[in-house]
Amino acid sequence: MPDRIDLRSDTVTLPSAAMRRAMAEAEVGDDQYGEDPSVNRLQAEVAALLGTEAALFLPSGTMANQVALRTLTRPGDDILVPTEAHLVLHETGAGAANAGVQFSIIGVNGTYDADAVHAAIKPRGHIVFPPTTLLVAENTHNRAGGIVFGADALRASLAVARDHGLRSYLDGARLLNAAIASGQPAAELAAGFDLVSMALSKGLGAPAGSMLAGSAELIGQAHRYRRMAGGAMRQAGILAAAGSYALAHNVDRLADDHANARLLADELLRGDDLELDLATVQTNIVVFALVERSGVPDAATFVERCGERGVLLNPFGPRVVRAVTHLDVSADDCRAAAKVMRAVADGR
Ligand SMILES: *Cc1c(COP(=O)(O)O)cnc(C)c1O
Repeated sequence: MPDRIDLRSDTVTLPSAAMRRAMAEAEVGDDQYGEDPSVNRLQAEVAALLGTEAALFLPSGTMANQVALRTLTRPGDDILVPTEAHLVLHETGAGAANAGVQFSIIGVNGTYDADAVHAAIKPRGHIVFPPTTLLVAENTHNRAGGIVFGADALRASLAVARDHGLRSYLDGARLLNAAIASGQPAAELAAGFDLVSMALSKGLGAPAGSMLAGSAELIGQAHRYRRMAGGAMRQAGILAAAGSYALAHNVDRLADDHANARLLADELLRGDDLELDLATVQTNIVVFALVERSGVPDAATFVERCGERGVLLNPFGPRVVRAVTHLDVSADDCRAAAKVMRAVADGR
């Protein structure tokens, strides 16, 4: 077993030697003058991949989400979001602070259907209700265990949103995981949304960067909000080259991460101290619970003890833990990690 198996997140992936070479050799220019050929190339590649007119390179997925909110809403608007959305739970209150919006949570376990959307829309121009102006989806959904949003429910939900004049935003930090797992092209998963984001810094293995894609008009507006957020960079092609490298080399292999997550889940279920729903293990995330029984530690203790034995994880609740597979962990690493995790859960 290696000294350390890091399953805290797919953000911990390190740039490979070949990726670093692509970065070192990248042609660059001042991106704020639109003169960085590597940034321009990456933006064109992502627009083509997602079937949109334009795309914009940003330093992080959180900034992509915040810029999308600024672009698509006005302060005081009501935004429909799935349960436990990154936008609500993982951005230190940014949506309220930056865009001044309020969130209404709809559906269950990270997804929703057309009826849930319909029931939550508050009418515009009403004397008391906040206007509902945006529908958000997260695909795959992180805290729900990396699940893929069902295509039919999503399509029907988007139709309701459109019929009521709402705009729509897809937080697709792990959209390519959804595409590989479901066999649907990324452009199909992105279709119907006004803006779509995608991370380069997670399972794709780039050191930094996220993309926002949509119409030329909306991306033009997003440009301004990126600048406002302090996210307009200069010779960013060094980073963009890593993104292009990742798109060329690290997409199909996401299937390996998904197989490893499934392997890890199966191994964890060989004991009876850990609980998880295998139906949620669709991509590279395994969210599991420690059963309520004397001798079985809580999540914080479990994570600490696993860490002492070289297996790094993230606690997600009092008895809930998340493990994420990625390109720097192998099937053997997952087997070894599961062995440690089962022993710790069993008080050994
Ligand atoms: C990681 C993540 C983000 C934000 O990405 P950062 O680059 O870490 O800011 C946004 N949405 C989802 C669903 C994520 O998992």
